[in-house]
Amino acid sequence: MRRTIVAGNWKMNKTNAEAVEMLTKLAELVKGDEKVGVVIGAPFTALSDAVKAVEGSHIEIAAENMNANESGAFTGEISAKMLTSIGVKYVILGHSERREYYGETDEIVNEKVKAALANGLTPILCIGEKLEDREAGRTNEVNATQLKGGMAGLTAEDAAKVVIAYEPVWAIGTGKTATPEMAQETHKAIRDLLTEMFGAEVAGDMTIQYGGSMKPGNAKELMSEADIDGGLVGGASLDADSFAEIVKAGL
Ligand code: PGA
Repeated sequence: MRRTIVAGNWKMNKTNAEAVEMLTKLAELVKGDEKVGVVIGAPFTALSDAVKAVEGSHIEIAAENMNANESGAFTGEISAKMLTSIGVKYVILGHSERREYYGETDEIVNEKVKAALANGLTPILCIGEKLEDREAGRTNEVNATQLKGGMAGLTAEDAAKVVIAYEPVWAIGTGKTATPEMAQETHKAIRDLLTEMFGAEVAGDMTIQYGGSMKPGNAKELMSEADIDGGLVGGASLDADSFAEIVKAGL
């Protein structure tokens, strides 16, 4: 059964205290909305207290990145085991900001996806085309490359555990959203490719989120499309009321 999951991506926002305050409020607001998976991606410094703040609710906590290595001389990095040891359940991987500012390639993202799965963390694998790709008619090609690259070497059983977030780069933080029809068309192409890669049963059960200026005003329309199973929400996830509204739009 395919699950709708609404995930927040706070990016480099919120101190520990701000994180706890927001999550305490959010836990109250989404009580009873268990039909929709709720995940919040928080900065490393807030993760430990974030996990405690959502105890007893159905909210789960995600890291926004991690290192694919198990341990060792990687100054400043965080491993999958460090995340699971404090109760983190998800990790956002391959976000376009990491690809753009930190040079993350599909190979690097693939290593991270494998390391996450090996440690029982659910990867939210982000893919998406840039404006110039869309204008050149290369949307599906770019997404296919990122999807195949990010999921290279995965068995169907592993693939079934991955959440895909389709985020057109031109829609991230810009206020420009893909129309529901445009997003659905791309989501359908992604699911068709997943079917080719892992079979219809696995592909049919996989959650494919939309991301890019999702907000209370457009969330319901987007999520009512057949292949849009939730969202990855940046700006609108910073406020508990707005984010809870988006969660409810997925019910
Ligand atoms: P946005 O960000 O909702 O602010 O556009 C989405 C994301 O980057 O995941």
